[in-house]
Amino acid sequence: MRVKRRSKHRKVVKFYATCFGFREPYRVLVDGTFVYHLLLHRLLPADDALQSLLSASRPPPLFTSKCVLAELRRLGKSHAEAFDAAGLLATAKCEHDKVVSAVDCILSLIGDKNHEHFFVATQDSDLRAKLREVPGVPVIYGLKSSLFIEQPSVQQRKFAQLDEEKRLHMGKTEYQMQLKVASDGKMAENENASDDEKKRRPVSSLVQNALGVADKSKFKKKRPKGPNPLSCKKKKPKPQLSAAQNQGPKADGEAKRKRVRKRKKSHTVSKPTEATTIVHPDMTRLECDGKGWLDAMCPGVVYPGK
Ligand SMILES: [Zn+2]
Repeated sequence: MRVKRRSKHRKVVKFYATCFGFREPYRVLVDGTFVYHLLLHRLLPADDALQSLLSASRPPPLFTSKCVLAELRRLGKSHAEAFDAAGLLATAKCEHDKVVSAVDCILSLIGDKNHEHFFVATQDSDLRAKLREVPGVPVIYGLKSSLFIEQPSVQQRKFAQLDEEKRLHMGKTEYQMQLKVASDGKMAENENASDDEKKRRPVSSLVQNALGVADKSKFKKKRPKGPNPLSCKKKKPKPQLSAAQNQGPKADGEAKRKRVRKRKKSHTVSKPTEATTIVHPDMTRLECDGKGWLDAMCPGVVYPGK
């Protein structure tokens, strides 16, 4: 089946599922002409062909009726194969004690609203025309070796639209009933309220309360409490204030003096006790005879022995 045609058929099935409550497994009511067509064009197995047509998840059960079988039998040898094949299908129970024509039998099975949710498969154009006027009856037919579902008729679309509107909008009497229920239920609450307040209260809220609709949602929406931490720069850790800084300018001066002393100490070379030679970090060679430092020029270095 072509993709375009398949999606078209799927849309039709969806229409009937949405507007008329068709659910799987779909049931297909076939008449003698359709069985004959299936056999003629070798559209077998028939349930597989119909499953693919309806895009169903499982093969739809096929039904016929005793009146349809009787009509096939009457047609004689030419339709003997169709009669045998139809005999293998499930039989939908019709209320005809005396056999009627297949068309009348199918129309009576469908009724005025197709409560059984049958898809009707037929090659009879008169029957198809009659079924178009009944709301909620999808019609299947064959053209050579292809099967089709008829597009919903104008009447069917109108009926679906009206039905939807009916469901959306309450009737006047229903609306008034809801109002009455609402006012009765709210009586105790209204006793305390002043007349002005009663008048100001919108009618819709009364109806809502009658229907048990909460004024406010029970659950709070989750909202972010602050900026997204992933999109922010990391906070720099605050430099810890030293004890000296905390004590103020007086302590500050003392800390400065301490730092100077420390620096001097680092540059001071301790007096050695025996003859030794050291190399100062600034590459000045220093020699000592055990008593004191020999003359060595190293600017910025304080020699303790001198
Ligand atoms: Zn019947």
